[in-house]
Amino acid sequence: MTVAPTPTWPICGHGGCRGVVVPRRGRCLAHVDAAGRQISLLSTAAGSPADYRGVPFTPELLEELRRRSQRILYEARFEQAVFTGDVDFSGFLFSGPVDFRDARFEGTADFTRIGVRGHADFRRTVFEDEVIFDRGDFEGAADFSRAEFRGRVSLTGTRVARNMRLDMARCSGPVEAMIVSGSEIHLTGAVLERPARLYAATPRLTCRDTTFVGPSTLRVRRTQVDLTDANLASQVSILQHFGPFCLPDGTNMEETRPLGWGSPFLAELLSVRGVDVSFLTVVDMGLRPCQFFGAHHLDQIRITGESLFGSPQSGWGVHGGIPLRWTNRRAIADEHLLRQRLESSDRNRRAWTDIDDDLPGTVMEPAHVAQLYRQLRKALEDSKDEPGAGDFY
Ligand SMILES: [Zn+2]
Repeated sequence: MTVAPTPTWPICGHGGCRGVVVPRRGRCLAHVDAAGRQISLLSTAAGSPADYRGVPFTPELLEELRRRSQRILYEARFEQAVFTGDVDFSGFLFSGPVDFRDARFEGTADFTRIGVRGHADFRRTVFEDEVIFDRGDFEGAADFSRAEFRGRVSLTGTRVARNMRLDMARCSGPVEAMIVSGSEIHLTGAVLERPARLYAATPRLTCRDTTFVGPSTLRVRRTQVDLTDANLASQVSILQHFGPFCLPDGTNMEETRPLGWGSPFLAELLSVRGVDVSFLTVVDMGLRPCQFFGAHHLDQIRITGESLFGSPQSGWGVHGGIPLRWTNRRAIADEHLLRQRLESSDRNRRAWTDIDDDLPGTVMEPAHVAQLYRQLRKALEDSKDEPGAGDFY
């Protein structure tokens, strides 16, 4: 367990308390006298910044804050605050940024339908029990990097206008999420120890080096998914989701705001480099930009539904002085990359899609690409996609 950084604020000191002092009262909100508590809560209700850094909150103290503030907090700071018992932040409006860095929730935490008008900072926050962020509306970014979720996590119907980060987060309980993000969702280095059911509509979902211990399902729409170096210890399915996400109450999740135009029309897989794909099932995903070189057990990947590979532009080209008609066979991104490098003329190069080389410096040879095709052909034959497999001869 990480040790919280030394407080940078004037501390209460009551029995080692790290709570920030109520100005001119010498103690924090939890330990100040009744008059001091009154002054602090009144000033918060009147729109002063809600500074409760390091304060130990009981459910009763939070209830008092909830009542007095009418659930509206300005520039709320709960850095290193400790919440004992079950806490209820449901319906709170955080007007401006909110900071829960290094805070600890010892019971369940309910953040249902919170609104955040600025950056939401939950880095290294520890949730000892269940936490619910259903129907949350984040108008800025939401950062849960290195957070620890020890119970169930629910993020159903959550909208984030900008980036959502769960980098290096550890989820020891099951994860249920249905998120629309206008920017990107990052799960880089995150560890999901139990089953995860994730619905995501976001321009990019980054699962680099993410560990899926439990069987998991990722349903994505209008999303590019990067699985580079992910560790799949159980079955993981990535499925294209057609149509808007449906919430448990039967309504559709609104996504015109914040999703916008930055998203691809169809969901695509970008990379499985470095992944042991024997546990991976890909359903209806676009595979045009997907880089396979460096994947392990590629012959065991399951690719089903309308999973589409790219094809080189059809038309005429010239190769070695002989006019040559491009075929419409499907080609994997790795071949596009290789051809881009090896084709001698600009004209021939143009027929192959320009794909970002994800691992610059890795030199792929024609034999490698041929090997990728052999493995994919076997995988497609085993997945009963015989016509698709034919393209890979
Ligand atoms: Zn105190």
